[in-house]
This record gives sequence, structure tokens and C-alpha cells, in this order.
Amino acid sequence: MSAIIIDGESVAEKIRKQLIEDINVLKKKGVCPHLKAVQVGENAASRLYVQNQQKQCEAIGIKYTLDELPADTKEERLIEHIRKLNSDTSVTGIILQMPLPENINAKKVQTLIAPHKDVEGMNPVNMGELVYGNTRLVPCTAMAAVELIKSIGVELKGKEAAIVGRSAIVGKPVSLLLLDLSTTPTVCHSGTKDLSAKTRRADILVAAIGKPEMVKGDMIKPGAIVIDVGINRVKELDDSGNPVINPTSGKPKMKTVGDVEFATAKEIASYITPVPGGVGPVTVVMLLRNTVEALKMSVNS
Ligand code: NDP
Repeated sequence: MSAIIIDGESVAEKIRKQLIEDINVLKKKGVCPHLKAVQVGENAASRLYVQNQQKQCEAIGIKYTLDELPADTKEERLIEHIRKLNSDTSVTGIILQMPLPENINAKKVQTLIAPHKDVEGMNPVNMGELVYGNTRLVPCTAMAAVELIKSIGVELKGKEAAIVGRSAIVGKPVSLLLLDLSTTPTVCHSGTKDLSAKTRRADILVAAIGKPEMVKGDMIKPGAIVIDVGINRVKELDDSGNPVINPTSGKPKMKTVGDVEFATAKEIASYITPVPGGVGPVTVVMLLRNTVEALKMSVNS
């Protein structure tokens, strides 16, 4: 039997509705969330992100503004700018747009964003809070993966979970969140021996690897919940395995696939997220939720 597809858009929409209510309550108290994006230099991808973030924020009543710094900005100058925003009471959340120029240590600057304005949940203080079970400001993608699992509404306590990937923004926080939900997580990585044996035991499988369609159907336990975090751009192939060429550009056509081979996985799993349309839309909404949570933290502190 084919798995039920978890629709990320509809999960995102429900959360968005709740956020609109929360923002209205906050506005009645005289406060409004204001997300400040900081971008260094011009970049087509990050310009797209910014436009999308702005649209998403404004659609639910979050004020969104962008500070653009020149491409030759030095690390010290960016740090100074972040410190200024940290103490600016009109700014309630800060997001640093990636990529940053090579001369800037992105991780160092990101961790200097004040914990109560850290809408990406990357500050070590918020990471530490997660260990203590405080899930207010958690990296957006990790939170999105877990929201999708919770959206199914099945009892999670006691379930075996396997997380493939141990990055600080996805694998590790997902494993902590799932631990807090009383599942038993196993975190796998490139050094894991006999990966299939671990994944085949899992009632919940989260793939955050960055390798196109690496997880095949035969690596999945029948009836498992499968969350595919991966976003990979690959060439579209025809039935003979040759690249499909775009007649207008003359270049190979590209498509987006996850870390799970959807066609085989959906025949084994009970629930599965598609790529695109699964984790992606919920991740965006988690940024909005973190922005609202950040303001609530300031109001209540
Ligand atoms: P990283 O590259 O930081 O981490 C990848 C992880 O996968 C590492 O822990 C690595 O192990 C592990 N890994 C790599 N190869 C194997 C293997 N053969 N077997 C087992 N484990 C392996 O990636 P991210 O966590 O940042 O992202 C993961 C995926 O999620 C990517 O496809 C990315 O594009 C996508 N993504 C999606 C987002 C969304 O909004 N949907 C947002 C962020 C990311 P090791 O630690 O040993 O190297």
C-alpha cells in the first residue's frame, strides 16, 4: 500500500493561522514583531530568500526590514552592526542572510546575535536551552521536521527513531526534540556502520544527509514515518537514463529531489513527506514562529 503524503503546505497554513492570532494579541498589548534581515553583498539566491521572507512576514503581520551592507564589509564592521541591532529595542528578531563573503566567519557572527533575538536558534544559549528541553528558539528546519511528525497525530512515545545526519542545524536538534517526545533516537552519520540495519529498525526515519535519493525503499521499515529534509538539485533523466535537455536554453533540465528515493520509499512507509512541498514550507513558517516567540520572550522577561 502506498504511504500517505504529509502535505507541508497545509501543516504550514495551520501554524500560520495560529501565528496571526498570537500577533493580534501581542499588538493589543502594544508590541509588534519586527524581523531585521542583514545581508552582506549582492547574491541572487539570497535576494530571492529575502523577498520570500518579506512576503511571508508581512502576510501575517510581522514587520520586516533589510539592512544591506556592501560586499567588502569587514567582519568587525558586521559584528558592530549586529551588536547595534542587539541593543535596538525596535528590532525583535535578527536573521543573517547566507552566504556571507568568504572573509567573514559566518558561524562566529551568527552566534553573536543576542539569544532573545536569535530567530534561527543558532546561538549556543538557545542550543543549550534545547538540551534542557526548552524548545522556544530551535533551528527552523529541525523544528519543521518534528512538527510534520507531530501533525500525523500518532502516539510517539516508545517509538524507535533514526536520524541520518548529525549537523548542528538539523540532525542534532531533531534527535534532541525526538528524545523529548519520548522516542528512542539513533543518530547516524558518515561513520555509521551498517546504516540500513539502523534505518530498517526505525518507526520514524528522518533523512538530513544532502545526498540525492540515498535512502531507498529497502532501507525503510514497513509502516515507518519518513521525513525527508534533503534538498538536492539533480539533472532530469529520460527513460534511457540520458539528461533531458531544455529546448530553449540547450542546457540539461534540473529538478529538486530529497535524500529519500520517493518512488520506492512511498511503497514501504506509512507516511512520507514529499520534496518539494514537505519540510520546506514548514521551515519557512518556523522562522515566523521563532520571530513571534522571540518577541514573547522579551515581553515576558
Ligand atoms: P550537512 O552537510 O551539514 O550534514 C550532512 C550529514 O549527513 C552529516 O552529519 C554527514 O555525516 C551525514 N552523511 C553524509 N553522508 C552520509 C552517508 N553516506 N551515510 C550516513 N550519513 C551521511 O547537511 P545539513 O544538515 O545542513 O542538510 C542536510 C540536508 O538537508 C541537505 O540536503 C540540505 O540541503 C537540506 N536542508 C533542507 C532545509 C529545508 O528547509 N528543507 C534546510 C537545511 C538543510 P558526518 O557528520 O559524518 O559528515
